[in-house]
Amino acid sequence: MPSNLYQDVPYEEKQRLFEQVKADPRYKDYLYGCYECGICVAACPSARFYDFSPRKIAQTLAREDIELFYEQLNDDVWNCSQCFSCLRCPRQNNPGGLITIMREVAVNNGLKTTKEALAGYTRIIYKIMTTGTQVSPDMLQEDAFPDWGPQVKEVAQNLELWRRALPPETLHTTGLSWQVEERTMLELYTIWKLTGVLDMITELDEGLHDIMEEVMDDALEESGFQVQ
Ligand code: SF4
Ligand code: SF4
Repeated sequence: MPSNLYQDVPYEEKQRLFEQVKADPRYKDYLYGCYECGICVAACPSARFYDFSPRKIAQTLAREDIELFYEQLNDDVWNCSQCFSCLRCPRQNNPGGLITIMREVAVNNGLKTTKEALAGYTRIIYKIMTTGTQVSPDMLQEDAFPDWGPQVKEVAQNLELWRRALPPETLHTTGLSWQVEERTMLELYTIWKLTGVLDMITELDEGLHDIMEEVMDDALEESGFQVQ
C-alpha cells in the first residue's frame, strides 16, 4: 500500500513522470512482466541492508501502479547500488536498468528528494566528471566521512606518507587516485556535453553545473577539440 507521504502531489504529475519512464527506449527491453519469484531480491546486495526490493520495483511498473511508482521514485531508487546482480531474473527483466531510468527521470525533473539524496555527493560528482577519478585521497577528511571512525583522521594527517609508500602507478598524488589520459577525459567531456548528461546536473545543482561546464569548455578549447 502506498503511504500518504506524497498525497499533496497531483496524480497527473505522478502519471507524467511514469510516462517519462515508460517512454524511455530501454524500457521495453528491461521489463517483460514479473513472476514474483524473488530471485532478484536474493541476488540484490542492497536488499540485504535496506528496506528495498527490486521485485517491488518491477511489479509496480508492470502493474502501472502510479502512486507506488511515485513513492519508489522518491524513496527507493537511490538505495540501488547499480551492480546488476538482478539481471539473473528468469523473466529477463532488468530491475537495475529500470531503476537507472527512474533515476534519470528523477534528476531531470529536479525532485526535491533526489536533490536531498545527492547533496552529499556534489564533490564526488565534480571529481568524477572533471578528472575521471572517484574518491581521491585528499577527500578522506574527518568532516566528510564522520562515520568512518578515528582511522580517517589518522589517514588524513599522514596522507603524503601513505601515498609515498604505495606502488608507483598511483603516481603518489593525493588529488587523484589514478591518472586518466587527457584524450580520454576530452572524449568524455564531449560525450557528456553532446548527450545532455552535463545539462542534467543543472536540475540538481546549477552552481556545480556551471563550474563543471567551465572546466570542460576550457579543456576542450585548449586542446582544439570541436564539439558541434
Ligand atoms: S542493480 Fe540494484 S536492484 Fe539490481 S541487484 Fe544491484 S542493487 Fe539490487
Ligand atoms: S527475478 Fe524477475 S520475475 Fe523474479 S521477482 Fe525479480 S523481476 Fe520478478
